[in-house]
Amino acid sequence: MSAQPDQELGDVLELRKPTARALQKLELYTCQDLLAHYPRRYENRSLEGDFPLESTAGKIAFVGKIFDISPRFYGRSRLFEMTVGEQSESALSGRVTCRWFNMNYLAKHFKVGQFIALYGKVKTSGKRLLIDHAEYEVLEEEDFDPDEGGLHVGRITPVYASGKGVSQKLLRRVIFRLLDSLDPSDWPELLPLSARLPEQDPSSAPFRLEALKNIHFPASVEQRDQARRYLALEEMTSLQLGVLKRKRVALQFPRDEIPIEEKLWNSFLATLPFDLTGAQQRTIAEIRKDLCAGVPMCRLLQGDVGSGKTVVAVAALLFAIEQGKSAAFMAPTQILAEQHYMLLKKWLEPVGVRVALRTSSRSEENYLELFAQDSQPQIWVGTHALLYDKADIDPPDLVVIDEQHKFGVEQRDRLINKGKHPDLLVMTATPIPRTLTLTLYGDLEVSLLDESPGNRGEVVTALREKPAMREVSKFLIDQISLGRQVFIVYPLVEDSKSVSASAAETEHPKWCKRLSPHKVGLIHGRLSGEQKEKVMTEFRNGGYQVLVGTTVIEVGIDVPNASVMLIYNAERFGLSQLHQLRGRIGRGAHKSYCVLMSNGKDEETRQKLMTLVEHRNGFEIAEKDLEMRGPGEILGSRQSGISGLKLGDLMTDTDLVLLAREIATEILDSDPDLEEGSHQKLASLNSLSQSPLAVS
Ligand code: ADP
Ligand code: MG
Repeated sequence: MSAQPDQELGDVLELRKPTARALQKLELYTCQDLLAHYPRRYENRSLEGDFPLESTAGKIAFVGKIFDISPRFYGRSRLFEMTVGEQSESALSGRVTCRWFNMNYLAKHFKVGQFIALYGKVKTSGKRLLIDHAEYEVLEEEDFDPDEGGLHVGRITPVYASGKGVSQKLLRRVIFRLLDSLDPSDWPELLPLSARLPEQDPSSAPFRLEALKNIHFPASVEQRDQARRYLALEEMTSLQLGVLKRKRVALQFPRDEIPIEEKLWNSFLATLPFDLTGAQQRTIAEIRKDLCAGVPMCRLLQGDVGSGKTVVAVAALLFAIEQGKSAAFMAPTQILAEQHYMLLKKWLEPVGVRVALRTSSRSEENYLELFAQDSQPQIWVGTHALLYDKADIDPPDLVVIDEQHKFGVEQRDRLINKGKHPDLLVMTATPIPRTLTLTLYGDLEVSLLDESPGNRGEVVTALREKPAMREVSKFLIDQISLGRQVFIVYPLVEDSKSVSASAAETEHPKWCKRLSPHKVGLIHGRLSGEQKEKVMTEFRNGGYQVLVGTTVIEVGIDVPNASVMLIYNAERFGLSQLHQLRGRIGRGAHKSYCVLMSNGKDEETRQKLMTLVEHRNGFEIAEKDLEMRGPGEILGSRQSGISGLKLGDLMTDTDLVLLAREIATEILDSDPDLEEGSHQKLASLNSLSQSPLAVS
């Protein structure tokens, strides 16, 4: 009998109903499901060791013969003991006693005279050698080949995700049986025959079945690693097929090429009080080229906090308007939308561009009144809610999305509406390593703002454990009298009554008193949009010298005169979040100070916070953050399955990502609609390949 990938397990393996049902609870229905239930980890239970004569430092595996089985009591708890000795006893050999507490039902699995493989740590007690709760496998005498070992012990043993009535042993048994019954012709290669890992010997193709066997029951660590890499390459190629197929979507929306003379942009540049950085100029040129091209722009702009992304966005907006297009500028929060709106109005109205704000806090009537029909705005500024609007406004021709690192494929797809594919510019301050970018944003071209404007003052970051309040207040008052402004940030605290209460609210009155007569504002998530706007405007205009708040100020706020930030309970924030917060200061020419307050005593916390003290570069911090937390959390999606990858690791398998991209490109070049059977199967291997960034 040969098993087909989509055949039901129960049929193929002739399982008893309860067993089949239990496996279904682990979502294992078909042969394919079971084989893709890869081990979570492995234990080296190879029978390298001889029968133990003394205690061992770690766990070891060995084979012995059962000499005695007897129930005992140990205080009030029941246990049974089993004495195991060497198969062929010599003068030197001793016995090992295996003990299981409160598991007397196990005793019936064993019989005196059987051979058993054991895995555990050997210790001494008086003259006895003991193992408690060893892993074991009773070996059928006739099957037992000391070189081969058993299924559970005596090899590099797979350890699976189990539970729901399915034991490790059951999984190993059914997977082993299934692997044994596979016919190569039913499990053909999914990758093109030419595709292989550099370390793979081409003459040993086909690779797939071998890899499936070796991932579950490897003979060596090297074999397992190679199997994992091959199967990971399959997964990643599947993912890249989805990504690259999307990349070709824009090609389906050809359009007229409209030249850009940069008239509007130049008259704006003349009013700008600073020179563009080289990186800004380069990026703007890239965007200009995209906008003139015969297919829509799909571009990602990466730039650390403070690198000056807004000006680049303005260039894109002005180019589009010159071309007679309409545009939308979207921000993740209302505060930010408001800030962009005010800035764009200030910058663009003098050059004759009509800008309008649209957020959920403003009723539609308001801005319909604001604009008489003949003067429709050329730029809408708003939150991402704009995206999902039933839209009384026409879909814009250019969409700029600010501060967005969770902008998934689905959201991108929503922009393509009414048969129109807008020019798209996504901006993010989250430094994403290249391999992640290729996967999550693989359908976008990438521009990098890798240079900060030169007019930046130094930022000093310090870590403090509860300094004296008097000292802190004096420092703040000194800075305020120099004309500077201050952010004081608190984490949210989970009050017994309401989750959204914040320490900021409790501390605000105290700061008012301490710093009087200077004015202290308060901002937090429970204020209405309008209230928040009011507070921010007041702070920006210098009406407040200090702003006490929660992380609502985290993203994008630009108040160059603010040069001091105190962050309380800094240990409660993630590294990237702290970097974002700190990015609110050091935006002007003044020397800035960021003080991280933490009474987290442990070394890990201290090290995490020291990363910020030592680094100012967002990429370096992000890398540390990735090391400490893994990519899932950084990108704000589920830790596991950020991309539906089971074996591949987007962080460490850089070479596989690049190789997968090459293979996928070749496949799509030869078979653009993935009509060939193996290509279809490969593409559907990764359930998320149609939407790599599935944000929960
Ligand atoms: P971000 O990339 O974090 O969005 P912004 O666009 O808000 O950064 O820019 C940060 C600050 O730097 C703003 O006050 C902006 O006006 C200023 N800025 C931008 N580009 C330059 C430049 N080339 N030279 C000097 N200042 C600049
Ligand atoms: Mg910004």
